[in-house]
Amino acid sequence: MAADFERLKHQKNFIGGQWVDAVGGGTIEVVNPATLHSIGHVPDGGNQDAKNAVDAAADAFDSFRHSGVTHRVNLLRDLHAALMDNQADLARLLVEEQGKPMAEAKGEIANSAAYTLWFAEEARRAYGETIPSPWPDRRISVITQPVGVIAAITPWNFPSAMLARKIAPAIAVGCTAVCKPSELTPFSGLAWAALCEDVGVPAGVVNVVTGDSSAIGKVWSADERVRKMTFTGSTRVGKILLQQGAETVKKMSMELGGNAPFLVFDDADIDKAIEAGMAAKYRNAGQTCVCTNRFYVQSGIYDAFVDKLVAASEALTAGNNLEGTHDQGPLINEGALEKVSDLVQDARKKGGDIKTGGARMDGDGIFYQPTVVANATQDMRIAREEVFGPVAPVFKFETEAEAISMANDTDFGLAAYFCTSDLGRSVRVAEALDYGLVGINEGVIATPEAPFGGFKQSGLGREGSRHGLDEYLERKYICTGGLGL
Ligand code: ADP
Repeated sequence: MAADFERLKHQKNFIGGQWVDAVGGGTIEVVNPATLHSIGHVPDGGNQDAKNAVDAAADAFDSFRHSGVTHRVNLLRDLHAALMDNQADLARLLVEEQGKPMAEAKGEIANSAAYTLWFAEEARRAYGETIPSPWPDRRISVITQPVGVIAAITPWNFPSAMLARKIAPAIAVGCTAVCKPSELTPFSGLAWAALCEDVGVPAGVVNVVTGDSSAIGKVWSADERVRKMTFTGSTRVGKILLQQGAETVKKMSMELGGNAPFLVFDDADIDKAIEAGMAAKYRNAGQTCVCTNRFYVQSGIYDAFVDKLVAASEALTAGNNLEGTHDQGPLINEGALEKVSDLVQDARKKGGDIKTGGARMDGDGIFYQPTVVANATQDMRIAREEVFGPVAPVFKFETEAEAISMANDTDFGLAAYFCTSDLGRSVRVAEALDYGLVGINEGVIATPEAPFGGFKQSGLGREGSRHGLDEYLERKYICTGGLGL
């Protein structure tokens, strides 16, 4: 008999309220990175599947845009309840295809539910405005309207939550969506479709297509009916989508790569800094765009910090999280492990001191040892490239100005963290960091109430918060004359 969570595991696309195979009939195999065993197949959709999804979403938009806000709020509330009712099974699905620890997977589903509830609450506040008119005989008002069909393309590291941040605001304001989850973790995306079907989201409002990402991305970019592209993933692919979307001048939201610095000043509480730093570094085995990529530690506490970081890293366990409770899961695929390994080799060659880890772990899955590299320097590749793995390079600095300058010396600007007990410094450094999110004495800070998004090449737009709703709205200025005044 199939395990209970298998009922949420759909191996077909969801288009116009129907579960369908790819038009071309092909499939993609999905593998559990902890075991390298096949866990199923999903449709290998292409041009026609992508177009069919837009057809369905465009049809559904005509009526969904005019649905009352209460209807949409109730759909989102029901989705929130469905996510929480199925939390354990959805988490299991997530662990099976992505590998993260069960507690983190349950946390991700709860996070998806929290975003869904947030947008249920915000839906009622998509206010327009009236503005004092310069003309005595005319009135100025501004109304908000849904932008239209939106296309959402999401990555494998948070396969449920990244869709929540996109599907929930779309439903809140009356947009319809075509979604493409990562081919590496498609089941959590298809499970979103199943939940939408269960709670009665009208056919065509949410469509989920798996398959050839480049083909699907091109079709959605070129289609005039898709009025917004919302993407979470690499800066490389984000730039392709920005270029492709230019042709039809779409509204764009981009959550791209990060290169998060974590600054620890001499005046910090070192144990709290380790706790925050460990959470910021090793969550999801280092595979989040807000994970610490670089620790900068002031010289007075450098050695003590490295020792404690090494001890905490060595205490982490790793393994198949479907079978046991571990702190770490696998990396997503061999390419990811190769990149991590190359960055560590490069650091080693340039004088990095590998204090712990530094190698692949034995066994079948794609596991890399939690690794601490002391004596890290700015000429190492790891100072500039997102590691996306359990590797913690530790750089030494002397002054606040030097720390800020090194932290900002990157093309990215998503998350930054620092630890200090000095009030003045907390304000100075927070204001000086060129990042969209700053955690002071905290290592995990994203929440639906606060805007999430990057500076520089980390992206465009914000997700979550009241600003996240705006990304799905057009504002229309209406000037009313002929008032008989
Ligand atoms: P990551 O490195 O996090 O996997 P990617 O940017 O490669 O990030 O992938 C994020 C999402 O973008 C995935 O759903 C992937 O399938 C999709 N993707 C990859 N290449 C393209 C492309 N050329 N056009 C559209 N989507 C793409």
